[in-house]
Order: sequence, then structure tokens, then C-alpha cells
Amino acid sequence: MDKYSIIKKKSNLIFREKVPSSELTTYKTGGIVELCVYPVNKEEIIDILRIINENGFNYFILGEGSNVLISEKGFDGIILICKNMDKISILENQMEVECGALWDKAVEKACQCGLGGLEDTSFIPGSVGGAIRMNAGAFGSETFDCLSFFNAINIRRLREEKIEKKDIKYGYRFVDGIEKYFILSAVFTLEKKDKLTLLSRREEIIKKRKEKQPLEYPSAGSVFKRPKNDYASRLIDFCGLKGLRIGGAMVSTKHAGFIINYDRATAGDIYRLIMKVKKEVFEKTGIMLEEEQIFLGDFTF
Ligand SMILES: Cc1cc2nc3c(=O)[nH]c(=O)nc-3n(C[C@H](O)[C@H](O)[C@H](O)COP(=O)(O)OP(=O)(O)OC[C@H]3O[C@@H](n4cnc5c(N)ncnc54)[C@H](O)[C@@H]3O)c2cc1C
Repeated sequence: MDKYSIIKKKSNLIFREKVPSSELTTYKTGGIVELCVYPVNKEEIIDILRIINENGFNYFILGEGSNVLISEKGFDGIILICKNMDKISILENQMEVECGALWDKAVEKACQCGLGGLEDTSFIPGSVGGAIRMNAGAFGSETFDCLSFFNAINIRRLREEKIEKKDIKYGYRFVDGIEKYFILSAVFTLEKKDKLTLLSRREEIIKKRKEKQPLEYPSAGSVFKRPKNDYASRLIDFCGLKGLRIGGAMVSTKHAGFIINYDRATAGDIYRLIMKVKKEVFEKTGIMLEEEQIFLGDFTF
């Protein structure tokens, strides 16, 4: 008996079985995920979460997979993917974006409408759900800067809640208690500005990112959070780890903060390299780097 049949028999539910993780994450590697479901509205999400809660199934919410490494042993569970919920709407100086919309598409739209505040976060890959969850940011700007509130399903209570920014603690790549929510949409309050100035700043940021980052290889961006008063990439470079390889994974020579899937790396290669970098940096500098990325599945060897 297929344990997930209770989900698969739901009428109109979009799902895929036995999906290779290489199709789900920007690292483009990893094992087989038993079931991916693609809800189209909050009712469907609540319905699936109820079944998950009642049956004790493993589950994970995935945006664009640009900050996640899935084990090569795969994931025996259900991955909820929000791609089908991607509306962006603007009213005056407020922009509401559904969780599955691409973050950069929302930023571009805001700039084109002459609404400023998000432009420095241009070109961060991923979805709006992922950006809120991670409080993603760049060039001193963060997702939460212009956020007013987000709408989410409280996963345990299975009810929709509106979470105001003022009621939640957040910081650098950190949002307190966010794991208990399935983010549905977010509302940003932006500032009316000159459209051409915003678009030109956006181009400048994109150019800088392309110059600095090894975008020609699969990766999940910076592996580690920025340690206090320093940069992970500076420490990794200082320790002489640029170009270090395990199997097909390599510390980028262009940006030491990135580990790239250089040549058909397994998730295990990437994971082992992350741990090796962490160990070497600690031994040489006394600083324990903390991963920004999320590991899904079994990474014991
Ligand atoms: C080339 C490259 C450059 C990058 N540069 C940056 C950068 O400059 N700054 C930066 O901060 N990050 C950067 N990243 C990392 C990544 O893009 C961000 O963390 C991004 O916000 C993740 O979004 P995602 O949709 O891919 O999330 P995923 O990787 O799919 O998931 C990340 C987390 O968010 C959760 N999540 C996703 N959607 C939802 C939802 N709807 N509800 C609840 N939880 C959800 C997942 O469960 C997971 O815990 C980079 C990545 C790459 C590949």
C-alpha cells in the first residue's frame, strides 16, 4: 500500500512522484523526493497540511530551492512547492506578492512602477516565501526592511494568520519562530521614487553581482552567514581554501563564500566540503562559521 495515496487521490491536486532533487534545487544534485505537491490556493495547502499532521508524514516547504541541499539519499516525505501561487499586485505604494512569485520579479515590478526600497536586493534568486523565511538580503538591504506584514498558515493550528512585522523578532538572515508558518503572501510598503533612477540602481546591482559571483556553476549562494565584524568569504580565502575540492564540489575561486557544483557533485561531496571548510576555518582562526543553507534529508555517512 502506497502511504501517500491519501494525498494523491485528492481530486485536481497537482503532484509529481519520485522527483530527482536535481530538478528542485539550484545545487542541481541530490536524491529522489518521494512526492512533490503543487498547491494552487490556501485551501489546498490547509488540506494537505491536515493530512500531513494527522499521519505524521515528513514534509518540507520549498520555494525555488536556492538555499537548500537535499541529501543524495533523497527525502521520504512530501515537498510542498508554491510555484502556482505567484500573483503580484500593486495598490498605491503597497505591493502584495504571493509566496511562489520570484523575488526578483517582484523587485523589478516595483522598480518599473516607480516604487523604491527593494532595488538593492535585485537578482537574489528564489521566491518571495523563501526571501521572507530567510530574511534574504544584499548590499545592506533586507527583505524585512520594507515589509509591513505577511499572511501565513499556522501549520499546527491550520488557520490563516496575519503577522505584522512589529510583532516578530528578526535580524540578519533570521526570523524568530518562522518555522511554524507556511507563508502565503507578503505586503511591502514602498516609497514613490523616480522610475529611471530605480531601474539604473537595479542594473548597477545586477552588474556587481554578476562580476562577483560564480553564476556559471550551480550553487546555493553564500554557504555561511556573515560572522560578527567579518566576512565568511574573507576568512575562507585567508585560510587558503579557494579551489579546495571534494569530489565534484569546489570552493569557488571567484567568490570563496560559494561552494559550487563544479563537476557532477553529489550532495555528499557538497556537504563534506562545507564541513571541511568550517573545520579548517575554525582551526586556523578560532571562528566557527554558521551555515546559512538548509540541509534536507539524511547526511550521515
Ligand atoms: C547564486 C545565488 C546567489 C544568492 N545570493 C543571495 C543573496 O545575495 N542574499 C541572500 O540572502 N541569499 C542569497 N542566496 C540564497 C537564496 O537565494 C535565498 O536564501 C532565497 O531567499 C531563498 O529562496 P527560495 O525560494 O529559493 O527558498 P528555498 O531555498 O526553496 O527555501 C529556503 C527556506 O525557505 C523556506 N520556505 C520557502 N518558501 C516558503 C513558504 N512559502 N513558507 C514557509 N517557508 C518557506 C524553506 O522551507 C526553507 O526553509 C543566493 C543563492 C544563489 C543560488
